[in-house]
Amino acid sequence: MTYQIYNYILYGWILIGIITFFYLLFKQSAPYGRHTRAGWGMEISNRLGWIIMETPVILFVILFFNIAKKPNISTLTYFFMGLFFLHYIHRSFIFPFFMRTKGKKMPLVIALSAMGFNLMNGFGLGYYWGHFAEYGNEYLQKSHFWIGLVLFLGGMAINIFSDYQLIALRKPGETGYKIPFSGLFEYVSCPNHLGEILEWAGFAVMTWCLPALTFWIWTMANVIPRTLAHHKWYQEKFPDYPAKRKAFLPFLW
Ligand code: NDP
Repeated sequence: MTYQIYNYILYGWILIGIITFFYLLFKQSAPYGRHTRAGWGMEISNRLGWIIMETPVILFVILFFNIAKKPNISTLTYFFMGLFFLHYIHRSFIFPFFMRTKGKKMPLVIALSAMGFNLMNGFGLGYYWGHFAEYGNEYLQKSHFWIGLVLFLGGMAINIFSDYQLIALRKPGETGYKIPFSGLFEYVSCPNHLGEILEWAGFAVMTWCLPALTFWIWTMANVIPRTLAHHKWYQEKFPDYPAKRKAFLPFLW
């Protein structure tokens, strides 16, 4: 595949991401977690749903990487893949088992649509790393590599730490919701989402390539409408919800 065709596929995928953003923002939020609702067909266990949603991206990256693979892949390219897998191994195989989600369900169609999303992102990143990426040792001298790396690791830390703060709100066996306090929750309703967006922004800056930018755009398309929906949901459910708390940008939004 030529670089031009590859780029056109990603431009098309970005366009679909932008349309998805507006659909999720104005039409309806994705029906899983606290936004689960009837009318979405067959349901599966929440835990299984998370594993089905998140595992394929690892497999698709490996698949497309191997399909496209040219000789002499640089160590830095493997380093970027390793960081990407670090996030998704946690998300697919660790996070779902810590969730206190006994008896909760999600629509199968949501898990399957996430697989489609992962197929495209796995193609974008895997094919690029296998075929087009040129990350020699001189890349380490670029300041955006280090800025992106710090942003990526910082975002990941915020994301994981905030996710586990939420999970810890429930005692084993509980399934209801409480107002989270402490840490970044004092400022925003969804610091885990903020962390996710910072993390993939960092990844795009660090790797400086179209597929990582595309991945970040898609992350925002999925996460920002979800953040706003969570924030609104908290305000409606808890009359005593802290009035000064923003959705996900401290003091701003
Ligand atoms: P939430 O942030 O709503 O919840 C995370 C976990 O904590 C769930 O088990 C949830 O239970 C529980 N929980 C949440 N709020 C409370 C509360 N107030 N009281 C008690 N328990 C609570 O999940 P999301 O699905 O929004 O996000 C989960 C992770 O997935 C985040 O890290 C997010 O960044 C990431 N994500 C990434 C996307 C992407 O495109 N890259 C898209 C969407 C999410 P329950 O499931 O019962 O609600």
